[in-house]
Amino acid sequence: MLSKKVSLLPGVGDKTETKLSKLGIKTFQDLLFYFPRTYKNLSEIKPIATSKEGEECTFEATVQSIETRKSFRRRRMAITEALIGDKTGSIPVIWFNQPYLSKTLKIGNIYLFNGKVKLGRMGLQLQSPTFEPIKKDQTHIGRIVPIYPATEGITPRMLRFYIKTVIDQCGAVKETLGEDTLKRNKLLNLDSAIREIHFPTSKNNFIKARERLAFEELLPLQIEQLKRKLNLSKFKSHPIKSEKSLLKSLLDSLPFELTDAQKKATNEILKDISQKTPMNRLLNGDVGSGKTIVAISAMLMCAKSGFQSALMAPTEILAKQHFDTLSKLLDQQKINIALITSDEIKSTNSNFKDIKKAIQNGDIKIIIGTHALIQKSLEFSDLALVIIDEQHRFGVEQRKVLRDKTPETIPHVLSMTATPIPRTLTLALYGDLDISILDELPKDRKPVKTYFVQSTKRRDAYNFIKKEISKGGKVFVVCPIIEESDKLGVKSATEEYKKLKELVFPELQIGLLHGKMEKQEKDRIINLFRLDSEPSIDILVTTAVVEVGVDIPRATVMMIEGAERFGLAQLHQFRGRVGRSDKQSYCLLFTDSDSDNTKKRLKSFVSTNDGFKLANLDLSLRGPGEIFGVEQHGFIDLRFASLLDLDFIKKVRNEATKLIEEQGY
Ligand code: ADP
Ligand code: MG
Repeated sequence: MLSKKVSLLPGVGDKTETKLSKLGIKTFQDLLFYFPRTYKNLSEIKPIATSKEGEECTFEATVQSIETRKSFRRRRMAITEALIGDKTGSIPVIWFNQPYLSKTLKIGNIYLFNGKVKLGRMGLQLQSPTFEPIKKDQTHIGRIVPIYPATEGITPRMLRFYIKTVIDQCGAVKETLGEDTLKRNKLLNLDSAIREIHFPTSKNNFIKARERLAFEELLPLQIEQLKRKLNLSKFKSHPIKSEKSLLKSLLDSLPFELTDAQKKATNEILKDISQKTPMNRLLNGDVGSGKTIVAISAMLMCAKSGFQSALMAPTEILAKQHFDTLSKLLDQQKINIALITSDEIKSTNSNFKDIKKAIQNGDIKIIIGTHALIQKSLEFSDLALVIIDEQHRFGVEQRKVLRDKTPETIPHVLSMTATPIPRTLTLALYGDLDISILDELPKDRKPVKTYFVQSTKRRDAYNFIKKEISKGGKVFVVCPIIEESDKLGVKSATEEYKKLKELVFPELQIGLLHGKMEKQEKDRIINLFRLDSEPSIDILVTTAVVEVGVDIPRATVMMIEGAERFGLAQLHQFRGRVGRSDKQSYCLLFTDSDSDNTKKRLKSFVSTNDGFKLANLDLSLRGPGEIFGVEQHGFIDLRFASLLDLDFIKKVRNEATKLIEEQGY
């Protein structure tokens, strides 16, 4: 029955069939699963006597008279006039250019009318209402009405009619979930859910229908994640012993003490990697919460146990920075470290002629790089630990390749992300991972002060920047694009650089950094920006290339041009480039947009420094796809499940666990 072609429906000819197929609708089944975009509540029926001008009303009324005439004043347009009445009174109705209506509507019959009450020449009047004969079960008026995404030539009303016809004619839709699952979670069966989602009989039933369909969306994803987790536990990894004294000497060499959150995460990770089964953990911490040192601790233990570890970062700048940090911190430990990017290969030990060889035979214990690490020609001797920084910047496949670099064992994997992922999402998306959270910033940090700067105050902002630099600070200026020609009217890094250098701050050192520059030039610029004294750069004009990871503790001002072009999570990343020392830092937002939406979004950004809160907000405003690149997880197809509902996600997860326990895997 459900496999029947739509052409079997009354009124569906060749043309309509083609148009429907453009919406992906070919069969009855397709129609049932073509869900409403939204609903309109037309269930309230109003007594005619109480209707007021300007109101949209539904009347249940008898046609008392109806007539079509040609208008002389309106260029001979057909005007249909009727009088309809209920117990409380009557009201004139008018339609334009639908002469057939005087035949369709029958005097003495009762219909539901829905339309706007307006003031006409003769008093109140119902204008161009839709109508439907009164029936046991209404389709278009007198109920909560589904509104479908339409296309040219297919109106929501047609879709409503086709779907109603199918629903009324087809038998029960076959259940897809097990009886136990339905019972345990008090879910509506699929048949009722489908009927209710199209034609809700009550608000409550509608909510139940949504819940049922949402459950069905999330369940397979949860099962898959749990299976993946169980599956991983069948593999072997090298257990990595931790040496307390070694850890202590590393930590003692730091100019700061770890936060409690860092200590806890370090312990969790060291414990995981001491096991024979692979770690698969996500280190989730806001920007500047100090994830790197946690990772370094694990890498040190790994090297001292005689195994290799690899750290993969999404940009060259970041990889290089990690290389420098590790080289410095592990200087005493006599561990060979290599850097591998697409343009550069080097190591801390200059004796190695062939660095790739040295990696292959295990002389180099720590390998840091970009995605160049996953190239085929790079072989490891004993890769036991893989760390992926800013993991959301890599695809699932890329992450997997690195893990699969060793044949007999698989390495422990630590993924790190500075996009604070709301808990609901970690559970929904990363359900196969264990999570460590850095939910506190180092003690000496002052929250970055964020301001939305009116364009009239630009001068003041520049003066402020000058002052900050004279106090020893450094400044980022982020622009949405690289060159003017890319997009008209949008601030480009190249132009801003010129303007600041020649006109605004001729006396200061300005640098330009963007993704299209030669690697060596990039290095040179970022190193100059890092420098404390001449010939250092004071102001770095740049693009989103500095979004992740870049650590310049002396920077105290982050100025963002065209702020409306960035998502909240991204803005938060930019802001995280400052406020990395005990100095007060500032984030200044500029925008040329005066859309209310933009203002609202930017205001919420100004109002909080809490990355988790912002991520939640971003999630509700823009959906998961754009923020977290969740296309790869199939989450983009979620129609009913909300990724903001933690309790619900937990419920689905519990069911997934039960099913796996019951049915094995
Ligand atoms: P993220 O979590 O964003 O990757 P980083 O690891 O780059 O952060 O650390 C940010 C900065 O904070 C670095 O300069 C680092 O040396 C410093 N840092 C890390 N932990 C602490 C701490 N407990 N106290 C003070 N500074 C710290
Ligand atoms: Mg980082």
